[in-house]
Amino acid sequence: MSDESQELGITESKSHKPGEWYAEVVQKAGLADYAPMGGFIVTKPRGYALWEQIQDALDGWFKETGVDNVYFPMFIPESFLEREKDIVEGFDPEVAWVTQGGHDELEERLAVRPTSESIIAPFMADWTRSHRDLPLRLNQWCSVVRWEATETKPFFRTKEFMWQEGHTAHATNEEAWEEVWTRLGQYERVYEDVLAIPVLRGKKPEHDKFPGADTTTTVEALMPDGKSVQGGTSHHLGQSFAEAFDITYVDEDEEERTAYTTSWGLSWRALGALVMTHSDDQGLVLPPTIAPTQVVIVPIWQEDTKEDVLEYSESIADDLEAAGFRVELDDRDERNPGFKFNEHELNGVPLRLEIGPYEVDDAEVTLVHRPDNEESVEDREEIVDTVDDHLETIYEKLYDTAAENLENNIREADSPEEIMGTIGKHGGYVKVPWCGDPACEEAIKEKVSAEIVMQPLEDQGGTTAGAPKAPDDEDATCAVCGEPADQLAYFAKSY
Ligand SMILES: [Zn+2]
Repeated sequence: MSDESQELGITESKSHKPGEWYAEVVQKAGLADYAPMGGFIVTKPRGYALWEQIQDALDGWFKETGVDNVYFPMFIPESFLEREKDIVEGFDPEVAWVTQGGHDELEERLAVRPTSESIIAPFMADWTRSHRDLPLRLNQWCSVVRWEATETKPFFRTKEFMWQEGHTAHATNEEAWEEVWTRLGQYERVYEDVLAIPVLRGKKPEHDKFPGADTTTTVEALMPDGKSVQGGTSHHLGQSFAEAFDITYVDEDEEERTAYTTSWGLSWRALGALVMTHSDDQGLVLPPTIAPTQVVIVPIWQEDTKEDVLEYSESIADDLEAAGFRVELDDRDERNPGFKFNEHELNGVPLRLEIGPYEVDDAEVTLVHRPDNEESVEDREEIVDTVDDHLETIYEKLYDTAAENLENNIREADSPEEIMGTIGKHGGYVKVPWCGDPACEEAIKEKVSAEIVMQPLEDQGGTTAGAPKAPDDEDATCAVCGEPADQLAYFAKSY
């Protein structure tokens, strides 16, 4: 038994070696494995179950807000990809190509989709005839391939990754903006309400936006190791894709007009952020909102008490299941309670109920919280309400810890030395006034590999939609070059 327990446990430390620790948690908690080809992973049942929880939440919200699901081919003819020049230039270094089918060389190369604007937009053009066809809102759940030559990090960096990509067309610029904010808001909600991770909402700097986009908006999450994760992006594509692919419509006045389009995506990187944010040196920690098993019941018996303990445990499991909780009764004979505790801890089950002969005699239940091992004894009678309260408390503990990490790690700086020193010492975000010149970002990036990950937004409507927020001080100067600064920028290292 002792050998097995050791194999079960996490050996790396989150605070000392976050990279190694992360890889170990992902594998030992049964989320993913490495595929035989570098850059690819195998998603295991427990990992996929988490992805399905995210899918269920988002997919429901999409459908409530007018989105239909579709599926397009994973291959895009080269000539299609070339129709929007920014897409070609932006993705060219990362595109995987199919040049042969069976034994025959293909007449035209096929790109494995790095993103699907180029194959979806021509059909959106076909399907959009009149103003009555708009808005058109499509989404697909699929994987895309970006052939980056970086080290594999499950869910954070893989050549193929799962995501959803939404593509919409609208009659007016204002409606397109509204769409951008709706989707960004839904991404924010997934992070905050499902993953228990607070995020910052803003835009990417001009030079870092999605190829061909007018504006790329983003939600950013700060990891405990001080690096930022781009949590999901929602792009206002203006009219560039509509022009390249002829997405036009006949308006009420019989005039032909060009549509405005958006696209938005959230990938399984959200799972990486989830693991990184809450988990610890005992293994995975999951908020109850996403945990495939929310409650595990571990009965503790001797031969003479087994029947009573199991019967009592089963009745509690039945009550909880009937109330809609995802509950598991771990009545395996071949494992002792200590082994079971460790295993469910490693797998991140948020709440453990321990039931032995004393609990049976006193009509009580012992509850243990996964994040901090807080233990309490409660009455059997109110078990459904009690479990509900405890799961809520566990969610709050996780959210509050993450919120505190975010709050404590936004600092200000007014010189390049201070930006670099602060990031080197603390990580986190450094908020600075910025002149808008990419050269000023480059100067920092070269030295400490931190970049501008986000710019807070001025507001979300009217003529300044998507404009970066200005510094409070009208005479603010760029923290890097000292020229007048009309916008704020957040520097950070990122995943
Ligand atoms: Zn500057």
